Order: sequence, then structure tokens, then C-alpha cells
Amino acid sequence: MNAAACGAPLDLPALLDYWLGDLAPGAVDSVEEHVMSCAACADELSGLVAVGAGIRRLASAGRIWTVVPGAFLQRLVDEGLHVRQYRLAPGGSVQCTVTASDDVVAARLDADLRGITRAHLVKLDAAGREVHRIEDIPLSDSSDEVVIIERTDRLRALPAVIEYLRLVTPEPGGERVVGEYTFIHTPSP
Ligand SMILES: [Zn+2]
Repeated sequence: MNAAACGAPLDLPALLDYWLGDLAPGAVDSVEEHVMSCAACADELSGLVAVGAGIRRLASAGRIWTVVPGAFLQRLVDEGLHVRQYRLAPGGSVQCTVTASDDVVAARLDADLRGITRAHLVKLDAAGREVHRIEDIPLSDSSDEVVIIERTDRLRALPAVIEYLRLVTPEPGGERVVGEYTFIHTPSP
């Protein structure tokens, strides 16, 4: 990061929203005006775009398990990728699969995130054991969902199995469960 050369650097969420096309028109103008005249923030944006392109490549190849903004998933759809999506309410379950034609498999977890400033995403196996965790997932103020991209290579190798995702928020004395989501996986026919 080279923002030391800038007296009022654009913040990362604003640059990310700009890159995703997720900013209001007025905010777009102010980002563009700033970046036109500020080499430091232009560098920052270039770096972000490079990382974004890498994430997009990895996502479209099904190589990463990660939380993404909803606008990012929409961008993959707009680019013509075959995106299989499952939407779940807290406490909900879904019968899921992956087919040979799916480029990306995503889970959209509805969650009441009001008042929550930190959240972790936990993956549990059929026995309820924690197998993966993403600490401090990105939370956007306006969002009432958490969008996850799965690894399609891993999904394609799965037998019929149940897995769980759990959103938790740290609180004094422990973690509070914000939502738990059940995935009843069936291998592709
Ligand atoms: Zn700047």
C-alpha cells in the first residue's frame, strides 16, 4: 500500500465497491475524480483489480472456498459463467449437488446481521466437527446475506453427505450462533 503519498486515501471498501460496480453514481464520480489526480490511490485500485481478476479466475475454476460480495457473484453470472446457487434461511436445509456444467457453486445464507460487527463462518462435517473456519468475514452494512463460493473440484469428489455451515459472532463469554445451514449433498447423477 502506497497511500502515504495521499492525504485523504480512498478507503478499501469504497474502492472494492467501485471495482464491483456497486457504488451510487455520485460516489462513482468522486472516486474517479480522485483516482484521476492521485497516483497513490490509482496504484491501490490497480492492485485491487489485479487481485480481483485473480479471485475471479480462481472462482470460475472452482478452486477456492471463500466469502464474496453478492455483486461479485452477479458479475460472474453476467460474464456468462454457469453459476449454481442455493439460498437458505437460518435453520434451513437444502438438497444440493454439482453437475459437470457448473462453473461455480454458491450458497447464499440469509442472516440477520443487524448490529453485528464481527462474524466467522464455520464449516462442520456430518458429525458436527468443525473442519474449516473463515475468521472475520467481510460484512457490508446493507447486506442481509452472506455469499459463499464452494470448491467445485471438492464438491465433485463428495459422496452423498451432510455438511453444515454456521455463522457465529463473538460475544463476551463465547460465540453466539447467528444461523446454521444444512447441506444435504447428492453426487451428480
Ligand atoms: Zn488518493
